[in-house]
Amino acid sequence: MLAADRGGTADAVGYAPAFKGRAYYESRGEAIWEVPLEGKFIALTFDDGPDPADTPAILDLLATYGARATFFITGKKAEQYPGIVRREAMEGHEVANHTYSHRMLLHCTDAQIRGEIAMAQKSIGMAAGAEPVLFSAAGRFFLIRGC
Ligand SMILES: [Zn+2]
Repeated sequence: MLAADRGGTADAVGYAPAFKGRAYYESRGEAIWEVPLEGKFIALTFDDGPDPADTPAILDLLATYGARATFFITGKKAEQYPGIVRREAMEGHEVANHTYSHRMLLHCTDAQIRGEIAMAQKSIGMAAGAEPVLFSAAGRFFLIRGC
């Protein structure tokens, strides 16, 4: 799935020549802009990790408050710091795919995009114990192509 959020509206993702609108992509399960809930909630997300200094401190703070978060991590860093990724997963946080190398996908071929996502799935899955369900592109941009 694609966590497509750049300002929360379809208008903010203007890179799609064949953009069919938010409802179209949400109904197909291809993108999530928001999750309707009763009550007030805050979704905590952290991108670009894990970082050997910051991520353990974030995890400690989340544990102090019994809070859960989603970590959008790169496959390359998952390979560098698998212990931190394992800790994220073991402590009940969502570990999500944020490409392998944090490459800006707007400038990639379809094959390069598939490679970035697949390599990250594998690296993150090895570290976390399960492959991610969520994906977010570097820069949180997405591009709709006619494929
Ligand atoms: Zn990022």
